[in-house]
Amino acid sequence: MPIKLGIIGYGGMAGWHHSNAVNIPGVEVVAAYDIDPERVAAAKEKGLKGYDTLDAFLADDEVNVTLVATPNDVHCELVCAALNAGKHTICEKPVAMSLAELDKMIDTAKKNNRMFSVHQNRRWDTDFQIAKEIIGSGKLGNVYAIQSRLHGSGGAMHGWRGEKKHGGGMLLDWGVHFIDQAYQICGYDDLKSVTCHTAHVKTEEVEDYFNLIFDRKSGGYYQVEIGTFVLKELPRWMILGDEGTAYINDFSRNGAYVTLNSAIENEPEIVMTAAGPTRTFAPRPVEVKVEHELPDPQGKWTEYYANIADVVEGKAELIVQPWQVRKTLAAILAAFESARTGKQIELD
Ligand code: NAD
Repeated sequence: MPIKLGIIGYGGMAGWHHSNAVNIPGVEVVAAYDIDPERVAAAKEKGLKGYDTLDAFLADDEVNVTLVATPNDVHCELVCAALNAGKHTICEKPVAMSLAELDKMIDTAKKNNRMFSVHQNRRWDTDFQIAKEIIGSGKLGNVYAIQSRLHGSGGAMHGWRGEKKHGGGMLLDWGVHFIDQAYQICGYDDLKSVTCHTAHVKTEEVEDYFNLIFDRKSGGYYQVEIGTFVLKELPRWMILGDEGTAYINDFSRNGAYVTLNSAIENEPEIVMTAAGPTRTFAPRPVEVKVEHELPDPQGKWTEYYANIADVVEGKAELIVQPWQVRKTLAAILAAFESARTGKQIELD
């Protein structure tokens, strides 16, 4: 059965879905609904059936899959309406603002026997796929620290993303991607607790900075730091193992993993550095360190839609499962609690 996609909320991200989902065979975008007449007009200009009421949109029998791409506070009501109208439904991230909302969405999908998934597209980011592969490969030995970080200098959360009532703030906006990635890398039973600090650097109402640490049951930690006003960026990833170190600078394959050349490995000598005499922090000579190329996975966001098309055809299992996004949302809520109370919060 080909996918005839209808989009609720024809704004910025909907534009990406419209132009890219159609590159997957069997996916067509046919309709859009928005509360803003200008966005309905924009959808019509792009050749879609444009609706200005939800009821009319949901009554369109051609639409068999709905994408909800509105601000976060209305995801739950719109997802449930679409599911109750018999549409398979995809929700943009962050799926919901509370576990109660998410549970309602999951129950509504079950009750109507419809597919329900969330667009966690950053599972197909190149940098993430490299990090996952290198950590799993054993090439760094025992990995004791994973640092997943994004620094920018724009400063503030813009538009509805700066307002609490719409589910704004960096933890829900980008945190949801990077915490989803943490579960994908560590597995769903490994993250033990979270400690989180937030800051309102340039945005009054919601956090535009956070730094959180997950302690892992298997040992070591996983850090996620996102800062919107950092004028000297650190690499997107630092991965520290007892046999090597990997760095990935940005969202591409710009980085390396570094090990020691055992053939010429030597004990560091005590040297005089700006920090005084030291053996521990003596720089290893370049010939002792070996820079290796990173793996070269070929992830594309549209693979999400390839999976959705297969699921609707009954040929595959969902890759982004509702129970997985529930774990991620619970971790975000625990991070908020940690930031509020100053305490480490245990995760389920
Ligand atoms: P946006 O403000 O550009 O677009 C939102 C659209 O929804 C607007 O056209 C608005 O008029 C419409 N809208 C608002 N309330 C509505 C309602 N009740 N019913 C119907 N339409 C309504 O926002 P955006 O940047 O496109 O973000 C939309 C969603 O996509 C958010 O959940 C956001 O987190 C998510 N998003 C995901 C990614 C990603 O990489 N997965 C990237 C950007 C945004």
